[in-house]
Amino acid sequence: MKKLKPIFEPDEILCNMCGKKIQHLLSKKNAFIEDYIKIVHWFGYGSPHDGDKYEFEICEPCFFKELVGKLQIAPTITKG
Ligand SMILES: [Zn+2]
Repeated sequence: MKKLKPIFEPDEILCNMCGKKIQHLLSKKNAFIEDYIKIVHWFGYGSPHDGDKYEFEICEPCFFKELVGKLQIAPTITKG
């Protein structure tokens, strides 16, 4: 059996929105250099996409610019 070569390193995360590599590794201060949002959704029974599972990552800038910034109703935000 032919051994498949991975498309990217296992710990490499790309933003599905803009395509850039997300610098998600921990910094020396033990904080994420760049955070990201992972979306996993399985469409349920009766949906046009019934049974389909979608899984992707979005970088923090894209999350705010392309998703939160386009919401018609403000999200609930709990400040840390
Ligand atoms: Zn992005």
